[in-house]
Amino acid sequence: MKTKIVIIDDHQLFREGVKRILDFEPSFEVVAEGDDGEEALEIVETHKPDVVIMDINMPKVNGVEATKQLIEANPEAKVIILSIHDDENYVTHALKTGARGYLLKEMDADTLIDAVKVVADGGSYLHPRVTHNLVNEFRRLATANGQASNQPLQPEIRRPLHILTRRECEVLQMLADGKSNRGIGEALFISEKTVKNHVSNILQKMNVNDRTQAVVVAIKNGWVEVK
Ligand SMILES: [Mg+2]
Repeated sequence: MKTKIVIIDDHQLFREGVKRILDFEPSFEVVAEGDDGEEALEIVETHKPDVVIMDINMPKVNGVEATKQLIEANPEAKVIILSIHDDENYVTHALKTGARGYLLKEMDADTLIDAVKVVADGGSYLHPRVTHNLVNEFRRLATANGQASNQPLQPEIRRPLHILTRRECEVLQMLADGKSNRGIGEALFISEKTVKNHVSNILQKMNVNDRTQAVVVAIKNGWVEVK
């Protein structure tokens, strides 16, 4: 079974370039093309593609609007947005529509092929530069939060993944959710005794006396999500 792809872009030359790259891949088949978001719904309805590649800037209905409509009509639709903007605002706005991918038009052929494969497979794909910008933004926010907080981190407490195992982090989150040992055991499919062992390891590693203290420290440091 080939991956069926639809390309929606108002620039014919660009569309042809994308099509040529995708057609070169034996497992891909470009089944239709469109030159405006206006047609996207109808094209998708007719051709039932696995992946839709959608330009943002188009004259009548832009790609963000078209993606929104497409995903409202068919929540399973897998859309990769094409854009010239690597700006975080654009990316966030586009991803809010439910798009699974975001590519910059300056991409190379391999990036395009990877993105289609990953998204067809049910994953998400961001252009490497977009990922880089998001990571920088995240770091900036994290640093800003750290400076704003007048509660300096205790030196002996570091990021939890450095001291806690992944499983211990899960247990810590569930402690913060107010779950009992039994509830945690049921959620993680482990015995209550194993939960107790995890909890005592967490307390020891975090250098606190009880689970409440562990939760308080974890919340203060942003190690758990407060739901
Ligand atoms: Mg365009």
